[in-house]
Amino acid sequence: MGLEHVGPGSAKALITFSPAGTSRLLIGFVAGPSGVWVLAVSVTERGYIGGVGMSEKFTGRCECGAVTYEFSKAPDFVANCYCKDCQRSSGAVMGTYFSVAADDFKLLSGNPRSYPYIAASGNTLERNFCPDCGARVFTDKLSGFPGQVFVMLGSLDNPEAVKPPIMEIFTKFRISWTKALDVPQYPGRPDGKELSPAEREKVGAGEGCG
Ligand SMILES: [Zn+2]
Ligand SMILES: [Zn+2]
Repeated sequence: MGLEHVGPGSAKALITFSPAGTSRLLIGFVAGPSGVWVLAVSVTERGYIGGVGMSEKFTGRCECGAVTYEFSKAPDFVANCYCKDCQRSSGAVMGTYFSVAADDFKLLSGNPRSYPYIAASGNTLERNFCPDCGARVFTDKLSGFPGQVFVMLGSLDNPEAVKPPIMEIFTKFRISWTKALDVPQYPGRPDGKELSPAEREKVGAGEGCG
């Protein structure tokens, strides 16, 4: 659910059905003749998750819908990452993710399969995938970012609800035809922490972020 800004006098209602059968009803109301805030109410098969006066919830899911999650606080950190792990695990040119406090991130359904990974920095973490559809949904147990979960932006039901990336990292792996955003660019981690190739081999670290 969420608050949506629309023009005076306008209103809209939207009903969507996901392939996995999760239904969602969004109903908008105009607050008054000059009021422009519309309050949306969201109902899913998991039950009522929001309504008048309640705080906004962000929700998301894997491709097949088995894994679903929610959190409350709007993310501050959003990044595009071009590391080899983000490329390989997503099959795309980069991964876009944001951080959420671990105690705010709630898994609503599904049993994600975790894949322990050692980042190029030597930090440890676990990538979490849906065991049914294989979608990478979130990363947790990050030794470098305790108490944080990094969630893939594309898994959000409404990616537009989260602000754009504030930086691009591991740009040394950027594919030449991808265009840089007008935000700070870092060849690796912003702090430059990275093991040497020999050290990486010794501990079994990859070429990924974290
Ligand atoms: Zn899935
Ligand atoms: Zn990455």
